[in-house]
Amino acid sequence: MIRPILLYGDSILRMKSEEAIKINKDLPHLIRDMKDTLENTHGVGLSAIQIGIPIRIFIINANLDNIDFHFSGIFINPKILKEEGPIVKNTEGCLSIPQLNAMVDRFSKIKLYWLDENWEENKEEFTGMKSIIIQHEFDHLEGILYVDKVNQMWKSILEDGLDKISKREIEILYPWK
Ligand code: ZN
Repeated sequence: MIRPILLYGDSILRMKSEEAIKINKDLPHLIRDMKDTLENTHGVGLSAIQIGIPIRIFIINANLDNIDFHFSGIFINPKILKEEGPIVKNTEGCLSIPQLNAMVDRFSKIKLYWLDENWEENKEEFTGMKSIIIQHEFDHLEGILYVDKVNQMWKSILEDGLDKISKREIEILYPWK
């Protein structure tokens, strides 16, 4: 089921998400809804908190055919074990902050621990775009949005747009609230 995406200004997005627990029978349903919701938006990633559920899960489904980049996965209770430079600059957007983009500093390499859909443990190093997408989604679990991390110049560029989103003066093609 496609669920509405919480937009910038909603205080729930600022919550720190709680660890997922295996006995939670609603999780497969939640993950299915997250997949449906992400697919409907053409976004590359979605965290559970973005549909109002403060549980530490994000999903990624990035398919950029023009640069032959394909990356997808379900990440439950992820932990960033290591962050390594150099710092790279990346232009980011977010489904909770529609129609805006800004340059964000990210680590070029991270080591991630997570549980997959079968509750199997995984540990892997990610670089480049994969690393950046994970860092963006991971921030959501901590209640952090990419706009918190931009420099002063980008803050002023974003100001009007964020104000409009806060006032819900926007037109978006996917369900939101
Ligand atoms: Zn986001």
